[in-house]
Amino acid sequence: MFTLINLPYALDALSPVISARTLEFHHGKHLQAYVDNLNKLIAGTDLEDKSLEEIIVATAPHSDPSSPSLPAPTGNLIFNNAGQILNHELYFLQFAPHPSCPAPTGHLKSQIEKQWSTLDAFKTDFESKGVGLFGSGWVWLQANAEGELSIGQYPNADNPVAHGLKPILTFDVWEHAYYLDYQNRRAAHLKALWEIVDWEVVEERYIK
Ligand code: MN
Repeated sequence: MFTLINLPYALDALSPVISARTLEFHHGKHLQAYVDNLNKLIAGTDLEDKSLEEIIVATAPHSDPSSPSLPAPTGNLIFNNAGQILNHELYFLQFAPHPSCPAPTGHLKSQIEKQWSTLDAFKTDFESKGVGLFGSGWVWLQANAEGELSIGQYPNADNPVAHGLKPILTFDVWEHAYYLDYQNRRAAHLKALWEIVDWEVVEERYIK
């Protein structure tokens, strides 16, 4: 059984970047629904005791579709709900009202500067790939086994884990993430999100 994660900050703590009302719906309604859906879908299957990452790898659209207990429509539903839980957990847990670490340090800082020259150049690239993602999805900073970084644009619930990559940082570009606060202004929302990114959390994901 999966349960809804607790937010490590108050509902109004990320305002005005993310309002209490957006968080109330995004965490309390959207994420809760993905948790409830996944629990129903995997009840009684061999996925019941697996981790989110294992479920995502097992049901990814490009994985072996021959598992007899998981006909395609169910497998896709499981993938979408498990993906959305993991994506939202990584998303919500990377934010802090007053980040103790407002910029990357250590290995992550060096790697970003090696590949993008400056943090600002990376941010601009990341924002533009988030803005350029058509429809609903997620923009990610992801790493391969050698520690090389790339920016991934994935539709719907897809994520780096389904592609054998390590998820480092993510911005949710589904409209439910920003519409109450920014309406159609996705670019302005993505730019504002940097104010609440806790780079200590992000760096830990990169080096672990
Ligand atoms: Mn979302």
